[in-house]
Amino acid sequence: MDISYIINEYAEERNDYFRAVTPPIVQTSNFAFSTVDALRKSFEDEYGTWLYSRGLNPTVDILRKKLAALDGAEDCLVFNSGAAAIFAAVLANVKSGDHIVSVRNPYTWAKKMFDEILVRFNVSVTYIDGTDIANFVAATKENTTVYYLESPNSWTYELQDLQAVATLAKQHNIVTICDNSYCTPLYQRPIAFGIDLVLQSATKYIGGHSDVVAGVLCGSKQMLTKIFNSEYLNIGSGIQPFNAWLLIRGLRTLPLRLEKVTETTGKVLGWLQAHPRIEKVIFPFDENFPQYALAKSQMQGACGLLTFIITAKKIETIEAFCNALKHILMAVSWGGHESLIIPRCAGIKREQFMAAAPEHRMLRLYCGLENAAYIIADLEKGFAAIETME
Ligand SMILES: *Cc1c(COP(=O)(O)O)cnc(C)c1O
Repeated sequence: MDISYIINEYAEERNDYFRAVTPPIVQTSNFAFSTVDALRKSFEDEYGTWLYSRGLNPTVDILRKKLAALDGAEDCLVFNSGAAAIFAAVLANVKSGDHIVSVRNPYTWAKKMFDEILVRFNVSVTYIDGTDIANFVAATKENTTVYYLESPNSWTYELQDLQAVATLAKQHNIVTICDNSYCTPLYQRPIAFGIDLVLQSATKYIGGHSDVVAGVLCGSKQMLTKIFNSEYLNIGSGIQPFNAWLLIRGLRTLPLRLEKVTETTGKVLGWLQAHPRIEKVIFPFDENFPQYALAKSQMQGACGLLTFIITAKKIETIEAFCNALKHILMAVSWGGHESLIIPRCAGIKREQFMAAAPEHRMLRLYCGLENAAYIIADLEKGFAAIETME
């Protein structure tokens, strides 16, 4: 299916709603039936009928179909957050006594789920450097049921060879789950490499306007039916119709926004690389990136997030740089219209700062929809503020 068709027309039955160009927000909690038999059928197989909006809803279904098509997946479920999508995908594939192999430093709340929740139910996890397939082989045990991937991750952009990991997993009957938030299905389709479940935080690029929190999970019809009938309905964290409508609206401009962000990121990257206060810039489509060849082979694009390491002897220098920015906002998240920055040192106590540790001097920049020159001019303010500081 053509991406333009998926985004602009697919799954929109306009004759069902007054030929309106924009789909309605079907803001209802429940749906009425005209016969007992029809109600009974819905009870017997809720996945496939509109019964109650904790389950399915017409506005949400339009979004589900579009997102599944973009990922090249049979089916899709949309959650009220990316974290909920992660939770449901993992929970559905482990039982007490099972073991998970995860890339090290996965998204914060994936790690918290592994370390603080799943351990209470006797599910263990081994964290590995996912850049080398040999580490997956070495960490796999008899009771391993899940490989948890994030490619690239959102701070240092390590990748996994998705095809190699999927092939290995199939040999051992292991379910592969991949967080694809960085790329979106426009820049990477993990299912085409044999990955079983692909998820993303729709809060980022799909929403695109920093006004909705949501998560997407795509995979086979069989797997998603199982998840719908259990974790999805039980956790009750499905997306609400209005937020689904905002995501449909976000999708309309997704290709355009990614194109613009890609162009801007390239310009900002080049400018940062030439700056004397920059020790290193980390970006997957930079020729010096250690996994550049793999990135080029499995991703159609890279944009938005980049990480740079600033030269600084003291934490005050990094703080002064960030505090001097006037337009780039200091905030978590990314994928919206606005450029954002987070210094790594905000995550540690001031007295823990070590200038010798490059990771303490890392700053993650998200390039939004502003013009490159506007973002660069703001970064210049930051550098000007630390000109006399070491
Ligand atoms: C933001 C994010 C998530 C979680 O998504 P929420 O919508 O915030 O719950 C998961 N993975 C990555 C890589 C993210 O950046």
